[in-house]
Amino acid sequence: MSDRVYIFDTTLRDGEQSPGATMNAKEKVRIASRLEALGVDIMEAGFPAASEGDFAAVQDVAAVCQKSSVAGLARTSKSDIDKAWGAVQHAKHPRIHTFIATSDIHLEHKLKMDRDQVVEAAVNAVKYAKSFTDDVEFSAEDGSRSDRDYLCRVFEAAIAAGATTVNLPDTVGYAIPHEFAELVKYVMEHTPNIHQAILSVHCHNDLGLATSNTLAAIQAGARQAEVTVNGIGERAGNTSLEEVVMAMHTRPNYLDFHTNIVTEQIHPASRLVRMITGIMVQPNKAIVGANAFAHEAGIHQDGVLKNPMTYEIMRPETVGLSKNNMVLGKHSGRHALRSHLADMGYVLSDEELQDLFIKFKDLADKKKHVVDEDLEALVSIGILRTSDKYSLDYLHVSAGTGVKPTATVGLKTNGDVLMGAEFGNGPIDAAFNTIAKMTGTTSEMLRFTVSALTGGTDAQGEVTVRLQEGKNIALGRGVDPDIITASAKAYVNGINRLEYLRDNPVISDKDVVENE
Ligand SMILES: [Zn+2]
Repeated sequence: MSDRVYIFDTTLRDGEQSPGATMNAKEKVRIASRLEALGVDIMEAGFPAASEGDFAAVQDVAAVCQKSSVAGLARTSKSDIDKAWGAVQHAKHPRIHTFIATSDIHLEHKLKMDRDQVVEAAVNAVKYAKSFTDDVEFSAEDGSRSDRDYLCRVFEAAIAAGATTVNLPDTVGYAIPHEFAELVKYVMEHTPNIHQAILSVHCHNDLGLATSNTLAAIQAGARQAEVTVNGIGERAGNTSLEEVVMAMHTRPNYLDFHTNIVTEQIHPASRLVRMITGIMVQPNKAIVGANAFAHEAGIHQDGVLKNPMTYEIMRPETVGLSKNNMVLGKHSGRHALRSHLADMGYVLSDEELQDLFIKFKDLADKKKHVVDEDLEALVSIGILRTSDKYSLDYLHVSAGTGVKPTATVGLKTNGDVLMGAEFGNGPIDAAFNTIAKMTGTTSEMLRFTVSALTGGTDAQGEVTVRLQEGKNIALGRGVDPDIITASAKAYVNGINRLEYLRDNPVISDKDVVENE
């Protein structure tokens, strides 16, 4: 039997640190359920000490997960560990994940601590976490740039203090595969008690090497991979779950390992993460990009039709890309909708289903075939965002040759509908000006992107906006058959997210300073 590699998903924590990817508790819970269906062994749900919002979201995720372990991140301070435990304690399988930097550059410039003090802080943190739960992970931040022997010393002390997983991160995405494998081997050989724990790796993609580094580390002895769906994460992102899993799945002769991942759930998970975070997936992205299984060249198409194995190294069905996307239409009833949603992994309450059914009928009036992507957009945007401060209730624009573009907008907030009207350079600009005036937002629009949700001329328009207000950045997303309405929805969504960020500031693990 091949060795098991544990998949530690950090989409909800490190992935959320992608600029603009902030999620509310409801959205995190929705992704968490999908991650469970995907079969991740551990999911890191957040950094409970970062904000009250993050604490509550981790608590909510902990309450729903039945199979996956739920981890909360904490610095080495008692107060951080208390908060992490407070948030995960009701999980079926709780884990506390505590970290401190071990590289000289971090010790000197960030922590202002010497090596002995860092070992002591790590040991105390692990022991304290251990007083709450058996499942304690310790991370040596910036591990790949740490002195090898010192790294082994920290790991040995953390394991002796009770850590059951020790994580070696390439925090800044600096390692290259051969070097990283050597480091893992060195740690395995020079940490006397390493076999009492699982060695984990956590890579970043700054040089495009996160997947290669992770696989090299696994071949060298690591047995936990820290990953995110679609590889989202700070800067160039984290190791992508789908790439590591499918590399092992597709090349077992060279990578003789197995995971608990249900590969057919990869695409549904990818789509949901894209929908909720608003972070697009590049079309040529391995496994989950729109073109990952598209064969354009005639000679390839011919070969694939004769025998898929001529050019396809994986079957699209294996990663959950169903060829026969079932379509619903105007005449589909509530029952068909409910059962189709259940097949897609969405279990909605009666109230949510009723709400969705109205939106579905509305969409089916405008669009002949309603496909999975449309339903996912309805669920993730229409149903999950009901707690938002503003929602678009009404929109009318007039534009054309010789007409000054004007928009009239109705915004629902706290049960009231506010009305406003403004001019603009074009209909979208007019709608944006009106919404900006009504909400009083001081945000600046950094980017505005329009794309089609699916193929076909009746595809819904999908709009993403990137807004900045002070140091906060938020992405807003809107989907609608009408592109101007989709734009207005995206803008309102972005403003709602900025409101949320104002109340729940995000602290990044790379710029926090120990202050015990
Ligand atoms: Zn990271």
